Amino acid sequence: MNYALVTGGSRGIGKCICLELSRQGYPIIINYLSDDKSANETRLLIESQGGVAELLKFDVSDVEAVDNALEKWLDEHPGKIIEVLINNAGIRKDNLMMFMQNSEWSSILDIHLTGFFNVTRRLLKDMLTNRYGRIVNIVSLSGIKGMPGQTNYSAAKAGIIGASKALAQEVGKRNVTVNCVAPGFISTDMIRDISENDFKKLIPLNRFGKPEEVADLVAFLVSGKASYITGEVISINGGLYT
Ligand code: NAP
Repeated sequence: MNYALVTGGSRGIGKCICLELSRQGYPIIINYLSDDKSANETRLLIESQGGVAELLKFDVSDVEAVDNALEKWLDEHPGKIIEVLINNAGIRKDNLMMFMQNSEWSSILDIHLTGFFNVTRRLLKDMLTNRYGRIVNIVSLSGIKGMPGQTNYSAAKAGIIGASKALAQEVGKRNVTVNCVAPGFISTDMIRDISENDFKKLIPLNRFGKPEEVADLVAFLVSGKASYITGEVISINGGLYT
């Protein structure tokens, strides 16, 4: 079976996506930035459930690092194709726009939007040649609704949504689908500073989501059951609509 690459696959939502796609039978490439311990734990967890996993450490925002890492991986795996790509890596650097530093703006755009571009562009050629590909981009409610304190993050996620809709039209004829998953509040390290007790009353389902619930939706979009869905943004937010 060809491989699935999950950026930011070592922790949080990405980790659960790795575990779920592994259960679907995919050998997994776990990308991450710096936390070797978590990445190794995720790899061992996949192996303990009978799956195959490899670590591939690179910064998605660094185009040279992305190209070098993927080039090396492809050289070391002749004949193998990465046919599933989950663009999930990300961070938050919230601030009101009037106080926002240049670096807070640019790093968020670089990691989310340019990161999506860097990794996806490199893997598209093989998917198009192979006439099969599944790309799922993890965006956010912020990219649909906009969230105060997150002009950088909302812009980056909205940018990915626009790019995904355009790309879906470029590659559909070759049976490559491109979709976005837009979570609301999901309990991971990323939102450790946000109190579920304070915010859950805004959410009709009255709780934060679990990363496993997002992973189930991603796994569906990757599966044969979603073969006629492309260019879509699917929300998973407990009813916290715009
Ligand atoms: P998380 O638990 O903080 O995990 C982030 C992951 O991204 C880690 O594996 C981290 O690797 C990796 N990463 C960060 N910067 C990277 C870079 N430059 N290059 C490569 N990997 C990088 O976050 P999460 O909550 O699972 O979020 C995953 C995705 O869901 C993000 O795109 C986020 O915007 C989106 N999202 C999350 C929520 C939520 O409520 N949690 C809601 C909506 C959308 P290291 O550990 O090595 O740094």
